[in-house]
Amino acid sequence: MRLLNGLLLLPTVLRTAIAYSTLSDDSLRTIPSAGADFDIKTGAILAPILQPRVPGTPGSTAVLEHLADFFRNNLPKWKVSFQNSTSTTPLSNGREVPFHNLIATRDPPWIDREGEVGRLALVAHYDSLIHPTGFIGAIDSAAPCAMLLHAARSIDDALTRKWEAMQAEAESSDFSGLEMDEHKGVQILLLDGEEAFQSWTDTDSLYGARAMAEEWEQTVYAASSTYSTPLASIDLFVLLDLLGSPNPTVPSYFKTTHWAYQHMADLEFSLRRLGLFKSAPAKDPDRPSAVDDQFFLHEAGKADTDQWLGGYIGDDHLPFMARGVEVLHLIPAPFPRVWHKIDDDGEHLDMNTVEDWALLTTAFAAEWLELEGFMTADGGGKVRERDEL
Ligand SMILES: [Zn+2]
Repeated sequence: MRLLNGLLLLPTVLRTAIAYSTLSDDSLRTIPSAGADFDIKTGAILAPILQPRVPGTPGSTAVLEHLADFFRNNLPKWKVSFQNSTSTTPLSNGREVPFHNLIATRDPPWIDREGEVGRLALVAHYDSLIHPTGFIGAIDSAAPCAMLLHAARSIDDALTRKWEAMQAEAESSDFSGLEMDEHKGVQILLLDGEEAFQSWTDTDSLYGARAMAEEWEQTVYAASSTYSTPLASIDLFVLLDLLGSPNPTVPSYFKTTHWAYQHMADLEFSLRRLGLFKSAPAKDPDRPSAVDDQFFLHEAGKADTDQWLGGYIGDDHLPFMARGVEVLHLIPAPFPRVWHKIDDDGEHLDMNTVEDWALLTTAFAAEWLELEGFMTADGGGKVRERDEL
């Protein structure tokens, strides 16, 4: 599989190699697990999300406050903002229902104006389906939201260290500024109103995503900016959905982001090799390919001539993709059995799989943000100097 990848992807690897350095095994080992914070009853991150959160209801407000408070209380360097809209729905009898998207952004500290940072956007929706009554939506998408909060906190210190090192380096050298391709930021987008109220149509679905994509396309930065709009500032839109059931298989949906899918598949391979995946199946030495068969991301070796499913799944990426944003869609096909059923609740999550997705997402973000050399173990391992790498 790995040799095949290399051969197939040579052109894109060359295109992206300059800005991309992979994470070492040592760095992968430093990524913390969410542990008790993902407990479905008492966990500080996950438990408060596991309640009905239909847009415009008290549950929605409570969950949004929990998500925002997580950043405000634990990650003060992240800027929290909201993109708000209203819309009627087929069930609202003409009443305007409010939709609130949460945006948590962390940019390099020397950035002092809009339009100078390209960002990795990590995205999930926090609203839940209105039917059946009492529906929790644990995989859809409480658990993905929890994974993103954990990823944000797990890269936070390394980001601080990296950017401090970059600033120190710039100040101590003749070099008067930091190179443009080093202006990389990260954004967590927790979207509202993904679900349809009655049945899925272009107007009854994706309420939050449609409002945000439209507004972000129309918000134009100064003409001298590197990026023209907040929408254009998204380098890659990574959408997590329906994650948390056991044995997921996530295809590579889009040719244009297959290179990113392959980076994540490589990370999955490494994490399994290091024994860091909790859901990892026992390896069968008589059938080495069995490991590949059981990968979450099982299509790393996909060829251009294979079938690509991009465009078949309606989800929050669509309004962004229609405006030219590059998308990596992490959603299993087939959908998990509990999808839109009353038993999509905390008790039916496979916690090992939830932990593994959180780990993999964190690793992907850390690699994207080039945190090699700045990741340290919980409890304070030695911070290695860049020169040692
Ligand atoms: Zn859903």
